[in-house]
Amino acid sequence: MKPFAYHQPDQIPDAAKLLTSIEDSKLVAGGMTLIPTLKQRLANPAALIDLSKLPGLKGISDGAAITIGAMTPHAEVAASKLVQAKIPALAALASMIGDPAVRSRGTIGGSVANNDPAADYPAGVLGLGATIVTSAREILADKFFLGLFETALQSGEIITAIRFPLPLKAGYAKFKAPASRYALVGVFVAKFADGVRVAVTGAGPGVFRVPPMEQALSQNFDPSAIAAIKIDTDGLTSDIHAEADYRAHLVTVMAKRAVDAALG
Ligand SMILES: Cc1cc2nc3c(=O)[nH]c(=O)nc-3n(C[C@H](O)[C@H](O)[C@H](O)COP(=O)(O)OP(=O)(O)OC[C@H]3O[C@@H](n4cnc5c(N)ncnc54)[C@H](O)[C@@H]3O)c2cc1C
Repeated sequence: MKPFAYHQPDQIPDAAKLLTSIEDSKLVAGGMTLIPTLKQRLANPAALIDLSKLPGLKGISDGAAITIGAMTPHAEVAASKLVQAKIPALAALASMIGDPAVRSRGTIGGSVANNDPAADYPAGVLGLGATIVTSAREILADKFFLGLFETALQSGEIITAIRFPLPLKAGYAKFKAPASRYALVGVFVAKFADGVRVAVTGAGPGVFRVPPMEQALSQNFDPSAIAAIKIDTDGLTSDIHAEADYRAHLVTVMAKRAVDAALG
């Protein structure tokens, strides 16, 4: 790891100012992704700006939607009685991330900002049509995830919270890579009064929706409605873990399981 400066601001505007004024500076939240990257010298920032002392970024609040502060660790979302009652699929998703150490340090804001193609939260955020609240604006999930580790966040922008609308029903199913527990394929399905959303993680370079499944499930919210829908392998990932055609097959299998989970 190369030397770097360390800042621990206690106000969001100060953190945003540091981020824009110091070239090659990086925010650090739980550090679960960033610190290993520094150790492997895949990133060599001039400064780290620690978000842990910023007020109002941690915790879960109720209302017409559930709002989760960016610095809320995965374990807190998994254990939240509120999330378990209102969006049980989201609590279940958080409980499936990594291992206990990762879940107690890693944060929802860090996961969404990082946009790893195999991460779980992007599927929940896109599947539920959530809103990403930043230090500067609000961004709809449909416009936030742009591709491999790429998001709509601009320089100096800090995620402060994610706001999740409440679905009528939702479910998440993931086929894990056994060592890391990242998603080889994960599918989040959410039913709202005006239709169904289906979001897939792990299968391609970024999270994506599956309109044919959304239409079929909007007509008939049952696993049988999507059993015959095959995903095109074009653009899906082939790597040491799985070929694209295997991932395509898993999307249908996991989507059916997610609907089953939503139906309880
Ligand atoms: C062994 C292991 C297994 C894992 N398994 C899984 C898994 O199964 N599923 C899964 O989804 N994830 C998994 N992860 C990743 C884990 O969920 C991380 O916690 C997450 O990717 C990053 O969150 P963090 O809070 O640690 O962010 P950090 O590592 O601190 O930051 C990650 C990136 O996000 C940026 N960032 C952080 N917070 C903000 C913010 N509020 N606003 C803007 N930018 C921000 C940072 O600058 C950095 O670029 C695993 C990680 C490890 C080490």
